[in-house]
Amino acid sequence: MAHLVTLIPGDGIGPEVSDATRRVLDATGVPIEWVVEEAGADALAREGTTLPGRVLDRIRDSRVAIKGPITTPVGSGFRSVNVELRQALDLFAAVRPSRSLAGLPTRHPDVDLVVIRENTEDLYQGIEFERGTPEALELREELRRLSGRELREDSGFTVKPISVTGARRIVRFALEFVVAHGRRKVTLGHKANIMRFSDGLFLSIGQIEAEGHPEVWFEEMEIDQLSMRLVREPAEFDVLLLPNLYGDIISDLCAGLVGGLGLAAGANLGWEYAVFEPVHGSAPDIAGRGVANPIAMILSGAMLLRHLREAAAATAVERAVDRVLERGDARTPDLGGTSSTEEVARAIEESLRR
Ligand code: NAD
Repeated sequence: MAHLVTLIPGDGIGPEVSDATRRVLDATGVPIEWVVEEAGADALAREGTTLPGRVLDRIRDSRVAIKGPITTPVGSGFRSVNVELRQALDLFAAVRPSRSLAGLPTRHPDVDLVVIRENTEDLYQGIEFERGTPEALELREELRRLSGRELREDSGFTVKPISVTGARRIVRFALEFVVAHGRRKVTLGHKANIMRFSDGLFLSIGQIEAEGHPEVWFEEMEIDQLSMRLVREPAEFDVLLLPNLYGDIISDLCAGLVGGLGLAAGANLGWEYAVFEPVHGSAPDIAGRGVANPIAMILSGAMLLRHLREAAAATAVERAVDRVLERGDARTPDLGGTSSTEEVARAIEESLRR
C-alpha cells in the first residue's frame, strides 16, 4: 500500500526544491501518494489565512508531511506558519543533523552532529506585547508591582516560558534518540546563570532525566561557550540539546560547518505527527531563478523515508547525494557550481537509479 504523505511546497524557492524532492523520492520506487496543500502567501491571497484549517486536517490524516520553506514577512502582524504548524500539531522536537559531506572541503572535515531543538516554548511561544499598546503598558505596571523593577515606557515585550512538562519531554526524546541511534553524548546548551527560572529549569530537568540514562554521556554548557567551541572543535560534539531560540541559531551554525544551508535537512517530530523540512528559509534573493540547492530538502526527504520505515530507500537517497557531491559536476552556485536546481535533482535521480 502506498504511504500517504502531505506535501506543502511553500513559497520563495519552496516550490522549486519541493519539485526536485518529490522527483527524487519517487525515483526510489517507494510508493507514495502525495497530497499537495498550499500554505503561506498563496493561501493568504486565496483564502485569507496563511495556514488554512484544511492543511492541518490533511496532515492529521496522513500523519506525515514534508514542506518547503514559507516566508514570514517581518513586522506584518502575521504569525509564522512554521511556528503555528509546530504548535498546532505539537511537533515538540526539531531534529537537524549536520555531517561533513564527501567532496565538500570545509574547515573541519569530520563533523557529525545532531541538533535537537525544543520546538514549542521559549521566546518562540508567540506571547508578545507591542511597545506603546495598552497591554504593554499594563504589563509594565504589573511587572513593576511584582518585581519592583522599573522598565522603560517605550519597551516591547516577548515572553520566554519554559515548563517542566515541555523540558522533560524534549530531554527524554534526546536521551532516547542517543540510545536508539547508537550515539554517545548529549550536550545541553543553556544560559542558566542569567535566566535562572527558564534556562535554569531546562538544565535541572536535563540533569535529573540524565540520571536515568547512565549509558548516555551527558554534559551541560553555557550557550556562548558552546558556540565558541563548536566553531573550533565541532568533532568533539555529538547530539546538542537546546531550548528553542538557541536551537534555531545553533542549527544554522552547524549547517554552516558542513557547507551551508543548502545542505541542512530537518524534521519536526511529535508523538503523533511528523513534518520534514529543510532548515533554510524561502531565500527570496534567489527565488524563481532555478538555482536553489535542492539537497537540504532531498535529505529531509530521506529522513521522511526512514520515518516511514523505508530505511533502505533513505540510505539510497543519502548515498546518491554523496556520490553526486563527490563527483562535483552537478552543484548549485551556493556550493561553487553552475548547475540548476533541476540539473542537481536529475543527477541525484540518475545516481539513484543506477
Ligand atoms: P534563508 O534561509 O531563506 O536565506 C539565507 C541565505 O541562504 C540567503 O542568501 C539564501 O539565498 C541562502 N539559501 C537558503 N537556502 C538556500 C538553498 N536551498 N540554496 C541556495 N541558497 C540558499 O533565510 P532568510 O533570508 O533569513 O529568510 C527568508 C524567509 O524565510 C523569511 O521570511 C523567513 O521567515 C523564512 N524562513 C522560513 C523557514 C521555514 O519555512 N521553516 C525557516 C527559516 C526562514
